[in-house]
Amino acid sequence: MNDQSVALYDMTFPQMQDWVVQTLGQPKYRALQLYHWLYQRRVVDIADMTDLPKALRDTMSARGQVMTIREVTRQVSRIDKTTKFLFALSDGVTIETVIMRHDYGISVCVSTQVGCKMGCKFCASTLGGLIRHLRPGEIVEQLIFAQRLLDEEGLRVSSVVLMGSGEPLENYDASMAFVDIVTHPEGLKIGQRHITVSTVGLVPAIYKLAEERRGITLAVSLHAADDETRSRMMPINKAYDIARLLEACHYYYEQTGRRITFEYALIADHNDSVDDARKLAALLQELPCHVNLIPVNYVPERDLQRTAPAQIRTFAEELNSLGIPATVRREMGGDIAAACGQLRALHSPQEVTR
Ligand code: SF4
Repeated sequence: MNDQSVALYDMTFPQMQDWVVQTLGQPKYRALQLYHWLYQRRVVDIADMTDLPKALRDTMSARGQVMTIREVTRQVSRIDKTTKFLFALSDGVTIETVIMRHDYGISVCVSTQVGCKMGCKFCASTLGGLIRHLRPGEIVEQLIFAQRLLDEEGLRVSSVVLMGSGEPLENYDASMAFVDIVTHPEGLKIGQRHITVSTVGLVPAIYKLAEERRGITLAVSLHAADDETRSRMMPINKAYDIARLLEACHYYYEQTGRRITFEYALIADHNDSVDDARKLAALLQELPCHVNLIPVNYVPERDLQRTAPAQIRTFAEELNSLGIPATVRREMGGDIAAACGQLRALHSPQEVTR
């Protein structure tokens, strides 16, 4: 982008109204027209927005930019058509986005940061640290890109997960602007309930989000049932331990009425014993929640082994028998580098070895 131009997908609806009135000197209703072109018809060339006057389209083309991300590569799973994109941003750095086709609908997993500084031991996205936050529009464009592809098949994205590279609550304002933009009734109209924001457990941000009483789902990466194990796997636990994290989760539930999802990556001989399952059940006893069990993805740099399928079932059964609803997440795109950070590590090794 040049210095004068703005990225149209960065703007929430009220911001677009202000831009149209104050910068372009146009009546407010032009913002509605523009929003429909961007989100309902998903046109990415301003010249094609044919119900806007030609002179206005020319001005907007000079001052605004639609798509600022560019596809570098794409992998499509032969097993389940999971599609993973590597996108280059305007400054050349790269991020990943994934389309997953489930029985219950299509979800898109978007990234919120380039790289990540959280240092979770089982994750490839953090290997080169955090490079930068994404702008709201860079998050929105991932979704638009995916939806445009699905448009060719007459399909709609039904849910969005902010679970790609990055910690969404560390890039709080952009992540929430993204939520505002994609849920807007004049835009993509994705229901708040169909948006899941994941977090490693940034406790102050969970309180802030709770206060905003949005209808979105909070997915907390827990991954261990005691502080010692969790601190080994997730450095953030040294700042916010499990007790403080769960207190914040209770508060989130009280404020929003939304049950919490806990993500738990099973790693052989680290956190996958029946005793771990019992400790986990004891921790979550009083909290309306659901546990997603995830066989850990193999990250060559980390050499963590995944739990055997029979042990995963035992772990899930133990939780269920103790009254904690738990399911094993179905693996998507097993034949492609669909795990977070792997495609980027493959194509942009210079970004992950800094
Ligand atoms: S799991 Fe998420 S928060 Fe942890 S390092 Fe990876 S991208 Fe960052």
